[in-house]
Amino acid sequence: MIVAIDGPSAAGKGTLARRLAQALGFHHLDTGMIYRAVGARLLADGADPAEPERAAAAARALEASDLERDGLRSEPVGRAASIVAANPEVRAALVEFQRRFARRAPGAILDGRDIGTVICPDAALKLYVTARPEIRARRRFDELQARRESATYAAVFQDLQERDARDQARGTAPAKPAGDAIILDTSDLTSDQVFAHALDLVRGRRG
Ligand code: C5P
Repeated sequence: MIVAIDGPSAAGKGTLARRLAQALGFHHLDTGMIYRAVGARLLADGADPAEPERAAAAARALEASDLERDGLRSEPVGRAASIVAANPEVRAALVEFQRRFARRAPGAILDGRDIGTVICPDAALKLYVTARPEIRARRRFDELQARRESATYAAVFQDLQERDARDQARGTAPAKPAGDAIILDTSDLTSDQVFAHALDLVRGRRG
């Protein structure tokens, strides 16, 4: 069984995906980490993430161990990830890795931006997890503070807006809900409520 969870940054999809995977005994892939790993590789080499050939080469050379690198969750790496993610050759190089992961038994949960639309259009369940922008910025800001990373709320808000715009406007695999996705707005829900609701939906689909 494949569960696709898409949605914008800091909407709560990662937490939900991890909790569902644990409860169901499924494998979980946070596909944002793949794009982050490509971005991090380029930054480490002093390359510009917007340089198409360098970015495509980094994507083709990506190894599973790159996903374990330190610092992948930092803001500069997130920005680089959203730049390389707009590059069609980068996306093409990463499709097969994700589809292979999705086929793992007894089931897999993939979270990202294009799982329900491009990577696994036949997923048994597609969720689109979202929240109001100011709520997402607040969550991301609190997360950064907890990790003692310096940031201001205003800068985090602006960065999220820019990333959303880039992800939604790109020509290849723009971030959007699949036509058959169930929309889950987590703005006014606790993480326990989101999890309980999603678990019901998965169990309903499993029959
Ligand atoms: O979800 P996360 O913030 O870790 O993703 C980092 C960036 O990777 C996103 O801003 C988006 O541009 C890109 N991404 C994507 N497709 C995915 C997952 C992430 O384009 N399936």
